[in-house]
Amino acid sequence: MIFQCKNCGGNAVYSPEKKAMYCPYCDSINSAQRRDSQGDIRICPNCGGEIMVEEHTSATRCPYCDNYIILNERVEGANEPHLIIPFQYSLEMVKKLMREKFSKCIFAPTDFLSEARLNTMEGDYVPFWLYDYGVNCQYHGEGRKVRVWTSGDTEYTETSVYDIYRDMDVDFEKIPADASLRMPDDVMDLMEPYQYGQLQPFQPEYLSGFFGEKYNMPPEQVEGRAKAKMEEDANKLLHGTITGYGSLINRSQSIQVGSQSADYGLLPVWVYTYQYKDQMYPFYINGQTAKIVGKVPVSAAKVWAYGATLWALLTAILAMVYGMLMM
Ligand SMILES: [Zn+2]
Ligand SMILES: [Zn+2]
Repeated sequence: MIFQCKNCGGNAVYSPEKKAMYCPYCDSINSAQRRDSQGDIRICPNCGGEIMVEEHTSATRCPYCDNYIILNERVEGANEPHLIIPFQYSLEMVKKLMREKFSKCIFAPTDFLSEARLNTMEGDYVPFWLYDYGVNCQYHGEGRKVRVWTSGDTEYTETSVYDIYRDMDVDFEKIPADASLRMPDDVMDLMEPYQYGQLQPFQPEYLSGFFGEKYNMPPEQVEGRAKAKMEEDANKLLHGTITGYGSLINRSQSIQVGSQSADYGLLPVWVYTYQYKDQMYPFYINGQTAKIVGKVPVSAAKVWAYGATLWALLTAILAMVYGMLMM
């Protein structure tokens, strides 16, 4: 499907600034109407051109007419996401942020922040499984508190022994684990936290203007990562309630999952793939919070130029010193 402007026929996209469907051709807001593809999903519904569609692609751009296309069968039925955090940062906003953050990196290659390079950034919706857990945590241990005091010539030691029991029920909501093979897991973990209060019911309109993938790992396959996060948090919660003892002996502990469910959602990421001397420097920007994850490439030519200037300056100063000594 594509979204077309009722007024001019241009391709309407979701605008993070306006928080609405927007036609960049005639400036109309909320003038979008949906036009569904007929038959083959690889045929652009606007110009009829054949587009490259990868196995998991759910939203892409037609290379011939630049219309943003959403592939019906990849966002419907079993592939339909339930939730989405729409992009809060547009390309223009992200470009500005990148320039503010990296313009002082004097060793970065000259075109790292160029208009042409930054315009290659893509807004990607990354598929996620969001896990809810109802958990029972139990703990048994022995804590000791020791009190020492002196009276006259005698030192007294009082040791109090406590039997510690904890039994708590905890509900965890929306623990995320990405379901994309393409997205490195460590990068997605660094992208967090997302503000899950802004999750919206999924609508295909949000995908117009962006790229997207349907989930390419089933919930069982990524669950281990979410469960590990839950267990770490449960452990912290449990032990956060046991304080004030001089020593502690852990007798037993259990974290039992009573109920669990996984919801399918899409989260926004801007991806900037900067190539410098045969090496790729991927940058990822959280499309909701603008958190940036990536390492700036260092231009050897610039470092050398900087070093050379320093050296030249130093030589000039030395020459002056020598000149003065000789006087
Ligand atoms: Zn228009
Ligand atoms: Zn087209």
